[in-house]
Amino acid sequence: VYQFDVGRAHVAISTRAGGVSVGSFAELDLADHVGDEPAAVAENRRRLAGALDLPGDRFVWMRQVHGGAVAVVTGASAEPVAGVDGLVTGRPGVALGVLVADCVPVLLLCPDAGLVAAAHAGWRGVAAEVVPATVATLRALGAGDITAVVGPAICPNCYEVSAEVREAVRAVAPAATANTAAGRPALDLRAAVRGQLAGVVEVVDVASCTAEDARYFSHRRDGVTGRFAGVVWLDR
Ligand SMILES: [Zn+2]
Repeated sequence: VYQFDVGRAHVAISTRAGGVSVGSFAELDLADHVGDEPAAVAENRRRLAGALDLPGDRFVWMRQVHGGAVAVVTGASAEPVAGVDGLVTGRPGVALGVLVADCVPVLLLCPDAGLVAAAHAGWRGVAAEVVPATVATLRALGAGDITAVVGPAICPNCYEVSAEVREAVRAVAPAATANTAAGRPALDLRAAVRGQLAGVVEVVDVASCTAEDARYFSHRRDGVTGRFAGVVWLDR
């Protein structure tokens, strides 16, 4: 587990290790929407909460839709927040979670303002500008200095896309434009997200490629697979 702290604001990024899921989902699959055993996912989420010394009932997950919508939450919920790809909270002790396997997990920390946020940015989320929308939500709630952690995601050499997709993303996020080593159209999602974090004071890039680093789940590499998580919270 990667961990990063700014004062009383904390980020953790899980890996595949340490869970009870088997087969394609081995081991620490944290997603309840990809076909894994619900009991295994529940146990994996309990283990994550335990590893982070957080009560398991203080998490908020999203029913992610690759869009640009952001929700402000004031408490934990058993059900994921539907239809959003960004979450913001000012409630200490509430852990916001984003589930990924190649898309970019973005965790935003504003300890001075008592705010944290999580966002899920694949190519559709980059095109829908979910990261700027999440930053704007933080600003509207009074955020000053924001620190961003850009988590592990697929690298451009592993992420060939159609020329049409690359053009659609480039129109919104020019920094996404890339090629594979073989010269095929590709996207650099982490660079796109960094470009969309204009005005954020500090950007910490966890520069692992999910498709190349076996510690992480990768949809492009494995197809049916689990999801790892980025989590962000404020001390109670
Ligand atoms: Zn790669």
